[in-house]
Amino acid sequence: MSCVYIKTYGCQMNEYDSEVIAGILQEEGYELTSELKKADIVLVNTCYVREKVKQKVFSFLGELKKIKKEKPSLILGVGGCLSQKDPEEIKKRAPFVDIIWGTSNFHRLPEFLKIVKKEKKSVVNVEEEDLPHLLPVKRKKKFSAFVPVMRGCNNFCSYCNVPYVRGREKSRPPDVILKEIKDAVSEGCREVVLLGQNVNSYGKDLEEKIDFADLLSEVNRVEGLCRIRFTTSHPKDLSEKLILQMAYLDKVCEHLHLPLQAGSNKILKLMRRCYTREDYLKLVEKVRLFIPDIALTTDIIVGFPGETEKDFEDTLWMLEKVRFDGAFTFAYSPIPGTRAAGFENQVPLEVKKKRLRRLIQFQQKITEEKNRAFIGKEVEVLVEGPSKKDPDILEGRTRHNKIIVFKGEKHLIGELVRVKVEEAGCWALKGRLVEKKEKIFL
Ligand code: SAH
Ligand code: SF4
Repeated sequence: MSCVYIKTYGCQMNEYDSEVIAGILQEEGYELTSELKKADIVLVNTCYVREKVKQKVFSFLGELKKIKKEKPSLILGVGGCLSQKDPEEIKKRAPFVDIIWGTSNFHRLPEFLKIVKKEKKSVVNVEEEDLPHLLPVKRKKKFSAFVPVMRGCNNFCSYCNVPYVRGREKSRPPDVILKEIKDAVSEGCREVVLLGQNVNSYGKDLEEKIDFADLLSEVNRVEGLCRIRFTTSHPKDLSEKLILQMAYLDKVCEHLHLPLQAGSNKILKLMRRCYTREDYLKLVEKVRLFIPDIALTTDIIVGFPGETEKDFEDTLWMLEKVRFDGAFTFAYSPIPGTRAAGFENQVPLEVKKKRLRRLIQFQQKITEEKNRAFIGKEVEVLVEGPSKKDPDILEGRTRHNKIIVFKGEKHLIGELVRVKVEEAGCWALKGRLVEKKEKIFL
């Protein structure tokens, strides 16, 4: 039986899509492998949110070319955002690839594989399709499940490729989402991470009258589920109803990812984010009013076209003002076809790099201070597995989405436990097991 190796680049949505690809192929009788050298088929699920990822994908394809030279029967497929954007470029730069698929037709992979095997033909198909609502999923993590509530985006922030490669917003019907969550729970999952580019516009395209806050309360009722997380919330659409629901629903974790992107109003306007720094600060105030200990994380882009030193200082000022628990930081990358790529006043690479370094240092200090505030506190931890660095230590996440390591027996993996925090650094907390928590939500 053919052995399939799947390599994934990019965001959680891509991770999920790869889990579905794995699920579909397994149902078709393919075997999955985590060892590249055992593979008869290699599928590369790509991302194209920044140029750097594109370079990484092509360098991996270069590696695969060498393997295919030694093993000509190897079937290679490339799909996802990069293929959707420019299948021709892949064909040109990697003519040895057998299958090119897009972002919304991976359910056809068994069909494409048959064509390659039987007809000895290559397949290029990036047609936009409506993905079937329910597809088999072979999850990587046992205790935490990604579940998309919607796909695509209608926002067109001027730097962003997502609407071009993932199309317009499409919500999944609530019964389908709930079924997928219940199935995951019945297989031992304790936590769901609801995914969407902007979960706050969930339901707008559905016949049924439902919004994301309503969906959360439905998910909260799923028996056996212990934790609910979601990402991403666009600040312009975060409603008071959702904030109240987050505060009220016991399973919704005290963490909100709220991408700021930039701290200067001039840049926010150029980015087409539809909020000002003042709006953002008011929103944070409101969230903290209802959920005082909420952990806030964000995304920041430095070096957007036209960003002056003063604009960059405004971003630092916002970091200091909000005091995020963490930030994903990026140097602006011009993506062909997006509006901002055509803007004048592109910031030189060296300046972007310098600002990025400063930003990271600045935020690391705040993250560490935020983490240190947990020292002495007892926190609830979902134990995810042995620590990557030390297999004798367990690793898990707190409700505030902090990674925590502590000594404990392997049978605790998948359980909710109480841990007393004793140390804290920038990346993780360290603690001591207090007691095993009873399954209070079951
Ligand atoms: N839907 C999410 C973001 C998806 S992309 C939202 O609206 O927040 C994830 C992050 O990548 C973005 O938040 C942004 O910070 C970053 N990003 C997107 N395009 C980028 C680009 N061209 N250059 C640098 N960073 C970018
Ligand atoms: Fe991209 Fe903006 Fe849509 Fe997020 S909201 S995916 S940043 S266009």
